[in-house]
Order: sequence, then structure tokens, then C-alpha cells
Amino acid sequence: MNDLIPLHETILARIAAAAQRAHRDPAEVTLVAVTKTHGPEVVRDAIDAGMTLFGENKVQEAAWKIPLCPSSAHWHLIGHLQSNKARHAVRLFEAIHSVDSAKLFDVLESAARQAGTRPEIFLEVNVSGEPSKYGVTPEALPALIDHILNGAQALTLTGLMTMAPFDPEPEHARPHFARLRELRDRMEAQFAISLPNLSMGMTNDFEVAVEEGASHVRIGTALFGARPKISRPALDADTTSGIL
Ligand SMILES: *Cc1c(COP(=O)(O)O)cnc(C)c1O
Repeated sequence: MNDLIPLHETILARIAAAAQRAHRDPAEVTLVAVTKTHGPEVVRDAIDAGMTLFGENKVQEAAWKIPLCPSSAHWHLIGHLQSNKARHAVRLFEAIHSVDSAKLFDVLESAARQAGTRPEIFLEVNVSGEPSKYGVTPEALPALIDHILNGAQALTLTGLMTMAPFDPEPEHARPHFARLRELRDRMEAQFAISLPNLSMGMTNDFEVAVEEGASHVRIGTALFGARPKISRPALDADTTSGIL
């Protein structure tokens, strides 16, 4: 018996209950199963348990892992992206949640044109103002959207992403998630565009995120357990050198 079957069902039920509390259709919320640090065998079990969309936070790890996984899996990049990995990212991922500068957008756009791929992009916004966080500031978001709307051909901007500050009390994340939703609403009005996607909520705070309008929740630990602090030997640079 695959242990992931009941875990997956439990997470989907919690997402559905949170959606219903907010008078939302649970079908509007997509689970991104975050498999970083876990090997292809975990992805295979997750697919058997009904999961279809997976999130990785490192291009190098994904470049090793994705070819070893069933081709039915869909992949999103959820972690910070360096420009020099863009040409790999646009081939590996259907969506990139972590675009946070005009420079990174430009590099991704030209990489996607060259690769002939059409990934979706989400803009990562630092709504909490924590200096350690990646993401464009809310103040700089309009200029970034303006830049993207003028340059996007291969890439499609579909939404925003944020990470709440780490806090064991999920309610403390609510104002940050609400702020991302309000920003989205303002940007849709200001630019007359549609931004249906809000990527927000992790193991500790996904129910609050769904109540505040999340379209994508990114869940790792609640499905696959605690991650090792140090990457497994199979994921070390030795195994991946030569790929990137
Ligand atoms: C690791 C990670 C997650 C998943 O975190 P959990 O707390 O394990 O659910 C979500 N989003 C990003 C950007 C991550 O890097």
C-alpha cells in the first residue's frame, strides 16, 4: 500500500474545506507537490497516488531528476532562478513561479524563444518586506509588469507568487497573503489584464492561503516528510556535473 495515497487525500480534503470556508470552488486550487531533495522513486509513488504536478526549487536538481520520472509528470520551478540557468529552466518547466526582475524576464524570454517553449511565469513579490527574501517589492511591481507586457511573446504572465515569513502560527501569514491578492486585483485593473494565479501557501500555512485566494499551494513536508538538511549523495554535484 502506497503511504502517499491517504496523505494526498488528506491534503486535498483540507484544501477543499478551506476553499469552502471562503465560498470558493475547490477546483480553483491546484496542489503543487514539492519533491525537492526527494528522488524519482518518490515522484513515481506520488504519481501512483494521483499527484500530477510537481515543484522543484533548483534547476540543477531538476535537470537530474525530471528525465528519470514518468513523462506524465508536470513540473513547476518554485525556487529562485539565476539567469545562467534560464536556458535549462525553460525546457524543464511548464511554469516558473520566481520571476522577480526585468533582467531575469529578458533572459528567460530569449531562452524560451530559442528553445521553442512557452512557459507560464508568475512574479515573485516580497510582500512582507523581509530583507532576506527574494522577490520584487510591491512598489516596483507595476514597472516590472509594464516591461513584461511590452516584451512577452514566448512567456505568458499568469499570476503572482509569495512566501510568507517563517512563523509557526499560520494566522500570521494571512495579512501577507491578503496583500498579494489585493496587489493582484490592483494590477489587473491598472493594466486591464487577467492574473488568475496566486501561488501562496506551504505545509504550515496553506489553508490560510486558500482562504485568501491561492490558486496554487506548494506543499512538500506534509506529503513527503521532513527533508534531510544535507542533500542525499544521489543529488550531489558529482552526479549532476556534466548535465549543467
Ligand atoms: C520547499 C518549498 C516549499 C514547500 O515547503 P514545505 O514547508 O515543505 O511544504 C514551498 N515553496 C517553496 C518556494 C519552497 O522552496
